[in-house]
Amino acid sequence: MSVYVDYASTTPFDREILNEVMDSADVFGNPSSIHRPGKDAKAALQKHRTHISQKINAKPKEIIITSGATEANNLAIRGTADRHERPHMITTDIEHASVRTTYQNLSEAFEVTFLKASENGLIDADDLKNSLRSNTVLVSIMLVNNETGSIQPVFEIAEILKDHQALLHVDAVQAFGHMEVDVQKLGADMLTLSGHKIYGPKGIGLLYLREGIKLSAQLTGGSHELSRRAGTENVMWVHALALAMEKAADERAQRSLKEMQLKERFLNELTAKKIPFEVNGDLNQQASHITNIYFPWSEAEFLLTALDMAGIFVSAGSACNAGTVQPSHVIQSMYEDEERALCSVRFSFSYLMEEDEVTEIVSQLDAIYKRLSK
Ligand SMILES: *Cc1c(COP(=O)(O)O)cnc(C)c1O
Repeated sequence: MSVYVDYASTTPFDREILNEVMDSADVFGNPSSIHRPGKDAKAALQKHRTHISQKINAKPKEIIITSGATEANNLAIRGTADRHERPHMITTDIEHASVRTTYQNLSEAFEVTFLKASENGLIDADDLKNSLRSNTVLVSIMLVNNETGSIQPVFEIAEILKDHQALLHVDAVQAFGHMEVDVQKLGADMLTLSGHKIYGPKGIGLLYLREGIKLSAQLTGGSHELSRRAGTENVMWVHALALAMEKAADERAQRSLKEMQLKERFLNELTAKKIPFEVNGDLNQQASHITNIYFPWSEAEFLLTALDMAGIFVSAGSACNAGTVQPSHVIQSMYEDEERALCSVRFSFSYLMEEDEVTEIVSQLDAIYKRLSK
């Protein structure tokens, strides 16, 4: 039996959605063309965009379709930075690489403050308050951390920013489908989502941009996406994104309940087998599908390889360091403990999993633990 338990790095493309999208392949026109096939494609695109916008309580024109959340995050950050002379921006130590690396690159030209997480995995809203300056133009904070599942105090931060010019950019990739994502309630000015984290296709995502806010396009060319992102729209994948968002929103309660049950069972079985472990961060401030575990008895790199050979597919933090296992920057920021950062593994569950798969994960972990303790 093999078990994939790495759904935070990607999810399988829902077959039902794939089939429905295939049926729309005949609408092949270029949405920018003025003849009938073009108009048909434009109408389909508009329909999907409307569905997408409704799922986060936005307007259709506030949705910029991108090639994924990486591009959307780049557009939010660079597109804002480009519009200011000497901007100051605030982000956190625990962002996804697409946000963190973008800010690191910009920090050579602009001033960027990186906020640290506490041991509970959370950014302190007071830290943010104290870091605000008169020239702060952008604050980027994720809603759910992709390594620990920690739910960040975005509501509190939005409240603080109410009487400040700084815009709020929220990476909600790991939140959608697991908790409510409503741009109005969140008070987000910009928000990013990705198709392949919610059982849609890879290579599609979006940036929500509140009406009235201007961004400098990062991809220039035609006037697609209201001149905020040039390039012929991938109508089929936009359709798939709309369907994936619809299904994830409709089934959110059942899916997250199942994820929570799987996670709970996992932690209980680890305890029952007396495998030494600690949960990184606060279990009560965690999204349903992710948990991050410190195993003091093995480095993650070894454990991942041993588990892979045993048919258990899991990762150490994010999948974004292409094949290498580096100490997690998230665990490092939380605990300032490199050993802990090197010995932590992320397990991310799905409603698609069965309970006996959890038992299999723990039994393989137990076998490796026993082998190492000899
Ligand atoms: C996966 C992920 C991204 C990147 O999304 P892509 O669509 O793969 O570019 C960004 N942020 C978070 C939190 C993620 O988990």
